[in-house]
Amino acid sequence: MEDRFWETKSLDDMSREEWEAICDGCAKCCLHKFIDDDDAVEAAPTDYMEHNETIHYTSIACDLLNTKTCSCTRYAERQQLVPDCVKLTKENLKDIFFMPTSCAYRRLHEGRGLPFWHPLLNRGKKTAMHREGMSVRGKTVPESDADLDNFEEYIAIWPLEDLD
Ligand code: SF4
Ligand code: SF4
Repeated sequence: MEDRFWETKSLDDMSREEWEAICDGCAKCCLHKFIDDDDAVEAAPTDYMEHNETIHYTSIACDLLNTKTCSCTRYAERQQLVPDCVKLTKENLKDIFFMPTSCAYRRLHEGRGLPFWHPLLNRGKKTAMHREGMSVRGKTVPESDADLDNFEEYIAIWPLEDLD
């Protein structure tokens, strides 16, 4: 990979390897989120939202997440095992508003560059990201331990934080 390729290439022009390297591994996309909809009778999965709706993140993490390393324990099979698992591609970048503001793809898509704590700027290590509190480490409840009937109690503000 070219040195600092993310500064000279658009997301569209990146190779597969470069695209994968852009992910910071924060695992915020492995958190349950929901959209406020006063008309809904009960919670239901969705893959779209209206412009006047708000997305809420929770501290509930997918059961397949290793919450210490913030990595998926079944990465290769994740989409079969968890149909809601988000897989960003060049084709679905338009849906990036679902992602947290600190998501590296969203940052690049919005022209904000990579933050100082990103692993690509820290010799591939996640240490700075964890230290700055930008990953989910130490902040989550596994889905299997959460009371999903009362998911509002798990609403969290921290996944929306970003740091340049
Ligand atoms: S399947 Fe893996 S990548 Fe997908 S949400 Fe769960 S832990 Fe995250
Ligand atoms: S939120 Fe974005 S940068 Fe963070 S793990 Fe998910 S896809 Fe990667």
